[in-house]
Amino acid sequence: MYLSSISNRSLILSLLILASGRLCTAANVEYFSDNGYGNPVSTLQHPASEHYKGVTYVAYSGPHEDPYIAAYDHTAGKWTGPVHAGVNPMGKAPDQVDPGELDNHGRPALIVDRQGYIHLIFGGHGGEAKFGQNDFGTPGKGRQTHIVTKKPGDISAWETLENISPFGTYSQWVKMSNGDLYLFYRHGSHRSDWVYQKSVDDGRTFEHEVSVIKHKSAAGSLIVHDSWYAWFDQGKGNTITASYVYHPCANPGHNAQRNNTYYMLMDCRDGSWTNVQGAKLKMPVTKESADSLTLIQATGKEKSNHGSCHVDAEGNPHIFFRFPGQIRYYRWDGKAWQKASAIGADYSKGSDGDFIVDSPLTVRALLTQNHDGKAEVNWWKTTDGGLNWTKGATLFTMPEVGFQATVLARNAHPDAEMLICAKDPKQEHLYHHMFLVGEKGAISRPTDEASHLGDRLETIKAMPKAHTKAEAKRRKKAGLEDDDT
Ligand code: ZN
Repeated sequence: MYLSSISNRSLILSLLILASGRLCTAANVEYFSDNGYGNPVSTLQHPASEHYKGVTYVAYSGPHEDPYIAAYDHTAGKWTGPVHAGVNPMGKAPDQVDPGELDNHGRPALIVDRQGYIHLIFGGHGGEAKFGQNDFGTPGKGRQTHIVTKKPGDISAWETLENISPFGTYSQWVKMSNGDLYLFYRHGSHRSDWVYQKSVDDGRTFEHEVSVIKHKSAAGSLIVHDSWYAWFDQGKGNTITASYVYHPCANPGHNAQRNNTYYMLMDCRDGSWTNVQGAKLKMPVTKESADSLTLIQATGKEKSNHGSCHVDAEGNPHIFFRFPGQIRYYRWDGKAWQKASAIGADYSKGSDGDFIVDSPLTVRALLTQNHDGKAEVNWWKTTDGGLNWTKGATLFTMPEVGFQATVLARNAHPDAEMLICAKDPKQEHLYHHMFLVGEKGAISRPTDEASHLGDRLETIKAMPKAHTKAEAKRRKKAGLEDDDT
């Protein structure tokens, strides 16, 4: 009797604790915003988040494909925003329900400068012809736009700085240790050079564009155009790395083909570029010079796609490239490129993400993946230079959705390592929940603070249904997925 009353009491106590726990968490949701729109984030426009002086800033595409930014104060444990930071010239109103109607190229890339001002570049898909002569490629859509906060660390008010080329897309920030900012991007639509502009005054002025990878008609072909997809980041010391893939574009037209993997690096002291062995490159590289001097692997017909690239203490590059259904890891061991290895074959569908190089042989990858009907954010680790990869902790998981990754937050706080989006394939609108994930899972927020859609979903329900799947299939067939144009 006594024992049973004890266990009854503890049962009641447990139920009370459980209930109060539920009550506490019932008011909180794991997403910080519900207004990610279309394909709100990618690893290509990067960084998408940065931790600076105790605050993690995150940027993504929201309603109208406009840039939205939110901030999480790690000391106060409080979210601010999302704030509507600017207007994407490619945005459409009212809300679209057909994914084929969105452009997605104008997602924001974010950087915090030395003084704490936050900069976003967004809105570009090559720039319209009306902006004038494009000396590095062919015009496209939108306008590459640069905005900055009016005050350091305050995301509430923004101003536009007209100091970069409008003809940009896939905008990428590289911030050097001395604070110099490099803005890399493709200077136009898919038949265009990859260029950079440099700023030594915290983004207030930029030097003219410098072309680093050249587009042109393919040698000996009237129907193929040499085009590229590239990814840039800081290397060891005062260097910048470029990892890239080739796009044999159909001319006229376009296709989704990409192949091969390439690597080179810039010495920021004089802007000169070398290949991995240290041989000087004549810039910009062409298909011919890239093939003879910067090729990592000829992949034949197998489709390769950009990933990220980081260096070890010796400056040797470690690179992800994405292949259909898997991420492959490449490493320069000082003498040669090690044979590429796939990471987590059973987890490979929908895999994307970024990684940290701890030493030449020890690398940790944080990947969005699909496994057993669930989307997961998983750590993977190798301690033998990528020959074997072991799965580590799952930081966050959700059933019946797919995650979209970004690169790791710049200077990441352990609680806020990656901004991701969860997409439910069954829903009939294009709004998605946004999460900031770290070692303790996603940083939660009171439901009302995380709700930013107003009556948008009700309005959408009253609209005619989109032929979402048929349209997506048509676009895929036409090679018009959003990284493809
Ligand atoms: Zn093309």
